[in-house]
Amino acid sequence: MIENNNQYPHLTTKDKQLCINLAQQTLTNNKVTQTDITTVTQQLGRYPRGIIGIGARCTRCQIPLVVITRPLINGTLPFPTTCYLTSREATKAVSGLESTGVMTQLTSQLADTTDHANHLREQYYRAHEMYLFFRSLLAEHLGDSEEHIASISAGGMPTRVKCLHALVAQSLVFGSGVNPVGDWALTQIKDSFDPHVCRCSIHLTDNQKG
Ligand SMILES: [Zn+2]
Repeated sequence: MIENNNQYPHLTTKDKQLCINLAQQTLTNNKVTQTDITTVTQQLGRYPRGIIGIGARCTRCQIPLVVITRPLINGTLPFPTTCYLTSREATKAVSGLESTGVMTQLTSQLADTTDHANHLREQYYRAHEMYLFFRSLLAEHLGDSEEHIASISAGGMPTRVKCLHALVAQSLVFGSGVNPVGDWALTQIKDSFDPHVCRCSIHLTDNQKG
């Protein structure tokens, strides 16, 4: 693993351990099945290239909500959005939230000088570094170069809010308390999407459930 303390100044040992655990889970315990690939293909309407793990599932029906994609697809395509939201219900709900213009408000909130904004900015920067550290662990294990996506995370982090889908995906993978904006977005959409309430329109067929 990477032992350069200056590279992730916002991360505690515990934060790093969470990233290490998630990377290990992705690479060893949570292998992608053919059923997952079929389901995600239906969700996205295209074949999902470069998937190495399922980052979050509906806790009721177990279909994938977020997939983990490798940093360099097919050895040629750099892919920074490691945690990619695939649930149709989630993507629709997040798009609805985005259409209300909250990203502009959140971005200016991040640039504010109040104590609340300072705290939010710190947390958001930490989420950014956890994203990068998690991906670097995957890249190292897979032998994927990150040279084209170095210091690029997702969703506009660390200073802007550009894509709530990416931030919600991180919250679903890392759990609450990591990405403050993703966590907030999840509370806003809970009446139409909640990982603990199955409203999934796409299901694994019975013989695929295993
Ligand atoms: Zn479900």
